[in-house]
Amino acid sequence: MKVYADNAATTMMSRTAKEAMMPYFDVVYGNPSSLYSFGQEAKTALEEAREKVAKAINADHKEIYFTSGGSEADNQAILSAAVIGARKGKKHIISTKFEHHAVLHTLNKLEKQGYEVTLLDVHENGVVTAAEVAAAIREDTCLVTVMFANNEIGTIQPIAEIGAVCREKGVLFHTDAVQAVAHVPVDVKAMNIDMLSLSGHKFHGPKGVGALYVKKSIALSNLIEGGAQERGKRAGTENVPAIVGMAAALEESVLHMEENMAKITEMREQLIEGLSKIPHSKLNGDRDMRVPGTVNFCFEGIEGESLLLLLDDAGIAASSGSACTSGSLDPSHVLLSIGLPHEVAHGSLRLSVCEYNTPEEMAHIVENVPKVVEYLRSMSPIWEDLQKGVKEYVIQ
Ligand SMILES: *Cc1c(COP(=O)(O)O)cnc(C)c1O
Repeated sequence: MKVYADNAATTMMSRTAKEAMMPYFDVVYGNPSSLYSFGQEAKTALEEAREKVAKAINADHKEIYFTSGGSEADNQAILSAAVIGARKGKKHIISTKFEHHAVLHTLNKLEKQGYEVTLLDVHENGVVTAAEVAAAIREDTCLVTVMFANNEIGTIQPIAEIGAVCREKGVLFHTDAVQAVAHVPVDVKAMNIDMLSLSGHKFHGPKGVGALYVKKSIALSNLIEGGAQERGKRAGTENVPAIVGMAAALEESVLHMEENMAKITEMREQLIEGLSKIPHSKLNGDRDMRVPGTVNFCFEGIEGESLLLLLDDAGIAASSGSACTSGSLDPSHVLLSIGLPHEVAHGSLRLSVCEYNTPEEMAHIVENVPKVVEYLRSMSPIWEDLQKGVKEYVIQ
């Protein structure tokens, strides 16, 4: 059996998305900026896609800018807010310790340019509180950027409460909602979100396309200069097939959200129940404040990389929080941010499921992970020390 359980990394494209895209490769292939009908048909498709994306998050179509993905949207949102802040002499930004690197590395860049960044703690449960955000806001704070749902452990942040705090204090609020949009209800108006990033390939759309929502009246800065596409804020001929595919995937996901959430949550619970039986294992992140599909476990005494390779042999595609970033040996900053010691963070496993997975596949995972963990522990010198009492267990 082959089981793809790494949907937080990327997803299979839906048939709906694929079919929606097809005409835009070789039938309606005009440049949306061209005035003849080939171009205008593409332009119409582009604007229909914009309407669909806007509707999915309760925004206005004029508030949607298409980008090359979630990373670009994060960069543009944060750098724009920094420019707006600097004009008013405000150069303080608040974020969290466990953001995606598209956010953290952009903040690092701003720090080098003289901005001050406060990274809030996310605690053992992987959730920041609105009160902590409120307490961190200063006179010179120009932006709060807090992710909607974490990509490694799946915890959801109190976005509406943070939005309310930011609105009250008059501070711009951006959220990286790449793991949330199409998976859980997102409403930029009700949640007082000023800027939001989303990405097509995390919800069965194509890769290399995303969108940035920016509330009217907020002035975006360009990352890419050139033509007047995207109302002059993002140059370059639009990737019409990808944009159309993303919008179709998003529309479909939102339409089926309730049933998908129920189905995916049930499969996730199957995983949590099964894997919690492994001795000295731990579910990372809050038990309940999480997206339907993502679970992350630590298993003491083993190494995530070997776990992944052996699971691959069992036909299971999963992810680990260790060494996954370009061969680095440091454990994930996310797992460290929730207080896991290095050696435990190395033994982590992320499983992320979607509506195309089945309970039979979950059973296959629940059957194989304990076997692989036991096998790896049987060869682990750390596990031997733990068993002999030479070292103490971190996870009871
Ligand atoms: C995947 C992801 C991104 C990056 O999106 P791309 O479209 O791959 O650039 C950003 N933030 C989060 C939380 C993600 O999961």
